[in-house]
Amino acid sequence: MLTDATHDPNLRSWVDSANAPGCPTPIQNLPYARFRRAGSDEAWRIGVAIGEQILDLALAARQAPWGADVDRMLAPLAQGDLAGFMALGRAAWKAMRAALSEALAEGSVQGPFLELCLLPQAEAEFTLPAAVGDYTDFYAGIHHARAAGSLFRPDQPLLPNYQWLPIGYHGRASTVVVEGGTIVRPSGQMRRDGAGPPHFGPTRRLDYELELGLWIGASNLLGQPVTIDAAEERLFGITLLNDWSARDIQAWEYQPLGPFLAKSFATSVSPWVVTFEALAPYRRPFARPAGDPAPLPYLDGAFNRAHGALDIRLEAWLQTARMRAARIGPVRLSQSNALDAYWTAAQLVTHHTSNGCRLAIGDLFGTGTLSGPEAGQGGCLLELTRGGRVPIALPAGEQRAFLEDGDTVMLRAWCEGPGAARIGLGAVGGTIVAAG
Ligand code: MN
Repeated sequence: MLTDATHDPNLRSWVDSANAPGCPTPIQNLPYARFRRAGSDEAWRIGVAIGEQILDLALAARQAPWGADVDRMLAPLAQGDLAGFMALGRAAWKAMRAALSEALAEGSVQGPFLELCLLPQAEAEFTLPAAVGDYTDFYAGIHHARAAGSLFRPDQPLLPNYQWLPIGYHGRASTVVVEGGTIVRPSGQMRRDGAGPPHFGPTRRLDYELELGLWIGASNLLGQPVTIDAAEERLFGITLLNDWSARDIQAWEYQPLGPFLAKSFATSVSPWVVTFEALAPYRRPFARPAGDPAPLPYLDGAFNRAHGALDIRLEAWLQTARMRAARIGPVRLSQSNALDAYWTAAQLVTHHTSNGCRLAIGDLFGTGTLSGPEAGQGGCLLELTRGGRVPIALPAGEQRAFLEDGDTVMLRAWCEGPGAARIGLGAVGGTIVAAG
């Protein structure tokens, strides 16, 4: 059993908005974020989302009666240090979830005290929940790999290594931002129409990538690989991740060493970290399609086979400046599900450390673009517009092959299924502004 009393779909909170049908943050979710009152210079602290509110864990640590063991776990959270809390390990992550669930449930002893520790989410601003140590972006979506590969190599869309190891590259930690805000159109070197001598200028093929971000919550020692069965203990939580990409810069620079400046100008993550404990009801069996090679033994384990896949529904939305001016709401560009990934989170951890590489608390993984097999399930414009050749028609008479200045991209994700409460991962947005 992966689930416990905290996942009971009938559990209700004394915070009324958490019980509303369709609320993304019911008491079964309990994601963490680092926040403060918007526009203030207050100290950042960690909070837990409950309904439309945030339970301020700095206030909660002071105002409510807790046991000594909970006080110890609350201390780093009250100080705004999610990494310090992660360092307590998986048993503490689970115990804190149980304590928060009990405290926020209807009729709890702490309820009357905690009522004074709430801030409406709408009145908060957010920052990264922890400093990003290293950032690695993978390529675990096989439908994306196949669709993107077919544009560049029609006769061999998937390279021979794809089904044997999780492909990845080392990204840029310093440009990971929480939420999008504004994304400045990057400039770089590219070849017009993919031929002739290169020039330098603003990208004309700016794209988003619909991904999940995995926060690493426990480190391993240098030279000590993490086995597939121990990999889960390293995985703290999950966010949405937009790997903004400049396709024309990428096409010119990526060979032979992989993405560089085409990706390092910005990566956006959503503020809320949904824990792997919260995802327990949405773990699914992981299996390869018939006829595909089985993973090598170091990437294969009983738990991974039984529960490795994540049933997370993903969407990308777009609103242009003209749509905004005409009061036309965002349009959905695509829908997909993380179940279609070819590699599990545990396999990414195990492969990353298989050479002895040390992962540290606060490291961040991107899964790679999560696309589905059907049309309309592409997780980026490169796929949806077939490399820009088939632009998407938009409501105000516009069309898009790639992103233009003033465009806002919004990624959303949630989990739902029989016998479990629906939980949301929130959203991550970003609006493109002209190159400086
Ligand atoms: Mn990517």
